[in-house]
Amino acid sequence: LNGYVGFANLPNQWHRKSIRKGFSLNIMVVGESGLGKSTLIETLFNMSLYGPKTPRQPGHELAKTIEIESVTADIEENGVRLHLTVVDTPGFGDFVNNTDSWKTIIDNIDARFDAYLDAENKPNRVVINDDRIHACIYFIQPTGHSLSALDITVLKQLHRKVNIIPVIAKSDMLTDEELLAFKSRILADIAHQGIEIFQPPKYDNDDEETQLENEEIFAKSPFAVVGSSNLVQAKDGRMIRGRSYPWGVIEVDNEEHCDFVKLRQLLIRTHLEELRERTANQLYEQYRTNKLLELGM
Ligand code: GDP
Ligand code: MG
Repeated sequence: LNGYVGFANLPNQWHRKSIRKGFSLNIMVVGESGLGKSTLIETLFNMSLYGPKTPRQPGHELAKTIEIESVTADIEENGVRLHLTVVDTPGFGDFVNNTDSWKTIIDNIDARFDAYLDAENKPNRVVINDDRIHACIYFIQPTGHSLSALDITVLKQLHRKVNIIPVIAKSDMLTDEELLAFKSRILADIAHQGIEIFQPPKYDNDDEETQLENEEIFAKSPFAVVGSSNLVQAKDGRMIRGRSYPWGVIEVDNEEHCDFVKLRQLLIRTHLEELRERTANQLYEQYRTNKLLELGM
C-alpha cells in the first residue's frame, strides 16, 4: 500500500495533532444487493478481505453478505497510522420484506451512538473508542433513470444520522453521456426530496489550491465507481486493477474512467477530519439531544 493512500499528505496541523495517536475512520456501505459494495471495500483496501488473503481468482464470486460485518485494517504511511474500519451491510432485496434490511442498518448506527453516549456518561471516562459511523457510502443502481422509491425511503432514514456519500454503482455499465445525465438527475432528486448529503465545509483561510482540489472532488458527486480487485491487462500491456470487456478495459485507478480515485481521496485524505467532525458535532449531538428529550432528561 505504499504511496497509495495518501493520508500522510494531510495538512500540517492535522498531521502534527494526529500523528501520535493516528487517525481512525469508520465507513459503512449501504445499497441494494449485488451493486458491488463488498467488491468496493476490497478495492479500497486493495486486498482480498473475504476468504483467503490472496488475490481473488477471476470468476470466483464473493459470497452474498448476509449480516453486518466489519473489516478493519491498520494502514501506515510515512509513519502515520490510519485505523480504517469498513462496515459491510446486507443489501436490500436480500430479505422478503425490504424494511427488515434497512431497519438493521439504522439499528446498527443507533447502537454505535448509544455506546458512545454510555461511555461519555461513565464517571471515570478515559479515552472513548469512537465506533460511530463517519461516512456512509450509498450505492445507487446504474439504471440511468433516477433514484428508486426505496433509495428515497432509505436515504431519508439515514441522512440525519450519517454523512451520506452517494455513488453510482457499477458505472462501467453506463456510457459517459448517460452518466452525466444520470448524475444530474440524481442530484435533482436529492435536492427535491430534501435529502442531505455530505458537503465539504468551506473555510475562509483555505488556500486556493485546497479550494480547487475540493471543488474538483465534489464536482464528481455522485461518484461513479467501478470496483475490482482483479488485475487485468491494459491495452499497453500494463497489469492494472480493472474490468475487462471485449471492447476494452475499464481501469479502476484511472480518473478518466471512473471517480474511484476521487472518492478515496475524499475519504482518507482530504475530508477525513471533516467527516469525523460533522459526525461528532452535528449528527451525534442531534442524536444525543433527541435521546435525552425522549428520556425526559
Ligand atoms: P454487494 O452485494 O453489493 O456486496 O455486491 P458484490 O460486491 O458481492 O458484487 C456483486 C457482483 O457484481 C459480483 O459479481 C462482482 O464481481 C460484480 N461487480 C462488483 N463491482 C462491479 C463493478 O464496478 N462493475 C461491474 N460490472 N460489476 C461489478
Ligand atoms: Mg456484499
